Amino acid sequence: MSQYDLFTTDVLIVGAGLAGERAAIEAASQGLQVMMLSLVPPRRSHSSAAQGGMQASLGNSAMGKGDNTDVHFADTVKGSDWGCDQDVARLFAETAPIAVRQMAAWGVPWNRVVAGSRVYDGQEIHEDPEKEGLITARNFGGTAKWRTCYTADGTGHSLLYTMDSVVLKLGITVHDRTEALSLIHDGTTCSGVVARCLRTGKLRVYTARSTVIATGGYGRLYGASTNAIINEGNGMFIALDTGVIPLGNMEAVQFHPTGIVPSWILITEGARGDGGYLLDKNHYRFMPDYEPKKKELASRDVVSRRIMQHIRQGYGVDSPYGAHVWLDIRHLGAKHINTNLREIANISRNFTGIDPVHDLIPVRPTQHYSMGGIRTNIDGMAYGLNGLFALGEAACWDMHGFNRLGGNSLAETVVAGMIIGDKIAKYSKEASLQVSSKLVDDHVGIQRERIQTLISRGKRGESVYELRRNMEQVLSENVGIFRTEEALQQAVNSLHELHQRAAHVGLYGGGQGADPELASALRIQGMLKLAYCIAAGALARKESRGSHYREDYPKRDDVNWLKRTLAYWPMEADQPTLQYEDVKITELPPGDRGYGEASIPSKG
Ligand SMILES: Cc1cc2nc3c(=O)[nH]c(=O)nc-3n(C[C@H](O)[C@H](O)[C@H](O)COP(=O)(O)OP(=O)(O)OC[C@H]3O[C@@H](n4cnc5c(N)ncnc54)[C@H](O)[C@@H]3O)c2cc1C
Repeated sequence: MSQYDLFTTDVLIVGAGLAGERAAIEAASQGLQVMMLSLVPPRRSHSSAAQGGMQASLGNSAMGKGDNTDVHFADTVKGSDWGCDQDVARLFAETAPIAVRQMAAWGVPWNRVVAGSRVYDGQEIHEDPEKEGLITARNFGGTAKWRTCYTADGTGHSLLYTMDSVVLKLGITVHDRTEALSLIHDGTTCSGVVARCLRTGKLRVYTARSTVIATGGYGRLYGASTNAIINEGNGMFIALDTGVIPLGNMEAVQFHPTGIVPSWILITEGARGDGGYLLDKNHYRFMPDYEPKKKELASRDVVSRRIMQHIRQGYGVDSPYGAHVWLDIRHLGAKHINTNLREIANISRNFTGIDPVHDLIPVRPTQHYSMGGIRTNIDGMAYGLNGLFALGEAACWDMHGFNRLGGNSLAETVVAGMIIGDKIAKYSKEASLQVSSKLVDDHVGIQRERIQTLISRGKRGESVYELRRNMEQVLSENVGIFRTEEALQQAVNSLHELHQRAAHVGLYGGGQGADPELASALRIQGMLKLAYCIAAGALARKESRGSHYREDYPKRDDVNWLKRTLAYWPMEADQPTLQYEDVKITELPPGDRGYGEASIPSKG
């Protein structure tokens, strides 16, 4: 019989970022016992690094006048290139203003409207004195109105700290430095997780009436990413490992136009939203030539492609880290940069040794956001298993389709936490927890055996770090912004081989206690499965939609590809199985996005 510490609760939430914490608050407020697991202390979750803002159609600022939930809905659907679930986008747009106001009531110091006039991109803006003191907004890509609410450029930080204060106030139990390794399930119902204490290396079991995955994105599969090093897609691959839960649209990977070269730290879209320009090697502002209407503020997929297109034409600035372009915010002035954009000013000074008040910032498109994830219904329930929910970046609730709008993700975490948190509470009140000790022991046994095999193989095995670097390279080179049949086929072949090799990993260190090599080794097979799903989904999708741009199929194809990819990994299989479901069009039929080259649908 296995020995392990056992914890039982009503609701178990894996992941203590904004999404997990907001759902925890909802369930705890309804009288349920909630436990949360996290790799790091909750306030160190990736949500804390979000800079630019959170979208909600408040319409307080002069440039937001006339905004409403219909306009936000339409922007979100166009941004998604009609890949999103419109029921979800509608629910989201309707709830976002409530979410922003609730966060204000909980203490988030949103920037406010200041009456008076100022000049923006050659245009004079007059703020209404009657709106002074209300929550203001900045310009973000792909929106008809200014609606991105912000706290300088540390929005995620203030949101997460505020959220965590509510978690503390409610006395919700958090086990940090604890990693969920697998879901305990019998093929139909999920009853918790097997986890590993990252301090001691000991296995633990958590059982619950409902289990929730809120583990964030998978940016680190790409190596060069704006994501924190803990964003390795853990929650997605433990769901995939069940064999019955599909991942939705894994090929939908967002590249942010302005990762700083070469640390790849994000320079917020707020920098362009506040009036920053993109310049080429001749200091020429090139975006208006490609996108006359939206210029630097077309959606992210479009701006990223335009930058790479311009670089390909020979206008990039050479550097030891590859060609890049410049971001120019000097004309915004020292006062604006050192207040509204102070975090990116510090990042530029500390990591690149330049001062954006006087200097140009070197930038290039960098992996940034995972639109794909655990496929759920509108209530946040995962396909395939009862008692399992997912939300936040780890999920494919699917309000983002093939391109997420800047500012819509922070809003999604809080909105989904409110809505899905309520569904989780309702489900948990009805559900009973029935789990046999044999099932639990079997699941613990599998993890124990994996660990023992890794340790006993030792230096005779494959190096986890070598496999990782290879995977990062394959994805970055072959499954990036521009995609072709040949490169994608090569990626699938390489990932197939790397996945086979990952079955033979050994440990060069001892594998005892807090050994980080063991933690990496336990993740590598899952990470490779995710990478494989991304590449296989991209190879199969013979069209261009949002961030998925096929040079050999440059048009969006609404006749054949108005579909969501569902990637399964059947038990014992050595590759994913792809299925498709129709995208629900309830309100806005597919049309022109109003920006971008692939937005006009192909005839078939
Ligand atoms: C640099 C940057 C800036 C951004 N700026 C903006 C912005 O301005 N506006 C916007 O809308 N969006 C922005 N985004 C996107 C947004 O920040 C994220 O999508 C969002 O914060 C994700 O929140 P989350 O709660 O889903 O996940 P996260 O905040 O990533 O939290 C994941 C949690 O899961 C835990 N975890 C992971 N695996 C396990 C495991 N196996 N066991 C236990 N715990 C686990 C982690 O410890 C963590 O607590 C930005 C993203 C980046 C990379």
